[in-house]
Amino acid sequence: MDFDKAKNSLFQIPEICPVCSHKFNKAEASIIGNKGNSIVIHITCQYCGVSMISNISLSDSGVMTVGILTDLGKRDLDMLRSRSPISVDDIIEIHEYIEKKGSIKINEK
Ligand SMILES: [Zn+2]
Repeated sequence: MDFDKAKNSLFQIPEICPVCSHKFNKAEASIIGNKGNSIVIHITCQYCGVSMISNISLSDSGVMTVGILTDLGKRDLDMLRSRSPISVDDIIEIHEYIEKKGSIKINEK
């Protein structure tokens, strides 16, 4: 999706927070993904703090928006974006670890 289409798609961001019914501040929306004719937008309600991720797709028949609520905040997104992608070596390392330990605990150090 080119920048002009993406910019115009910002108008498809949901107007109202589905949790508290206040208006979203669209200036707070950020594009977190962009592929083909689709963009993925993250927005956080400034009143209740709930975040929403919306996939906006453009096609010949119009614009389709699908959104989900998430507890993933902007800070979490920035942290995830700064990480390198999971490599094959990472998967092998985890597999070997689980095989050796028998299981894995989240937050295990
Ligand atoms: Zn809200």
